[in-house]
Amino acid sequence: MKNTDRKKIALLSSKNPKSHAVMNELWTKLKEAHFILTPKNPDIVISIGGDGMLLSAFHKYEAIMDRVRFVGIHTGHLGFYTDYRDFEVDKLVENLKLDTGARVSYPILHVRVKMMNGREIVMRALNEATIKRLSKTMVADVFINKVPFERFRGDGISVSTPTGSTAYNKSLGGAVLHPTIEALQIAEVASLNNRVYRTLGSSIVVPKKDKIVIEPKHDDRYSVSIDNRTFVYDNIEQIEYQIDNSKIHFLATPSHTSFWNRVKDAFIGEVE
Ligand code: NAD
Repeated sequence: MKNTDRKKIALLSSKNPKSHAVMNELWTKLKEAHFILTPKNPDIVISIGGDGMLLSAFHKYEAIMDRVRFVGIHTGHLGFYTDYRDFEVDKLVENLKLDTGARVSYPILHVRVKMMNGREIVMRALNEATIKRLSKTMVADVFINKVPFERFRGDGISVSTPTGSTAYNKSLGGAVLHPTIEALQIAEVASLNNRVYRTLGSSIVVPKKDKIVIEPKHDDRYSVSIDNRTFVYDNIEQIEYQIDNSKIHFLATPSHTSFWNRVKDAFIGEVE
């Protein structure tokens, strides 16, 4: 095999000893199979740990996500972004040897934070972006495709991707979306609803073409959580949410578990 034909693979592992042991085993077996192991410009990124590790791997390589495929090995018990179990290292290596470049791709979220001084920060989320006011009740206007939809009062608002719909969004009472549905979901975090203050109260699924804008009404400190990272900003003018032009690509292998099996395993278990 020519050097240029050999796939470049990056391995990322969470800190626990079990994940490290899996990484060492994988490292040895991938070397024996003549893959190039490097963190620089990989073709494939393998994350070892849980969903949180896959989220970190995504953010580490998001700048080159158009040409990278991700695959996850989970060393805990639950994985939405992780196709392989820790005892399936040999199966993964075999599938990588047979790999022809097949991939499955899912939408991600494009977030633009506009500050009052004109500064703009662009971020991408794989699960969701959640805004909360730090000191008091958040008051914010919500626009969907320029329609002034509602004035929100409460703890915060989460906007999630289809793959993120089973994460924080689900805990907030949002619907589970199949990852191939190109839509975003707005979910309220503890909204105030009484005779004076009113929001829709249910989560809202917004199609690909629509832009969501949230405009906080007070000059104050807000936290913006993007997946597993939280940033604090003063004086946000507004935040725009849209489906990103790029998608995240996963290695499509015979082990790519069906979405409905994952949902069932994670939340329901065996039914008699
Ligand atoms: P973490 O490791 O504590 O993860 C929290 C849990 O969320 C884990 O069990 C993880 O497997 C699960 N998870 C992550 N992505 C998922 C997905 N797409 N579908 C189903 N389950 C998923 O924390 P972390 O590593 O910092 O992960 C951050 C994520 O945790 C956030 O993106 C958010 O979705 C989620 N979260 C959930 C809640 C909640 O449910 N109340 C609160 C905060 C954050």
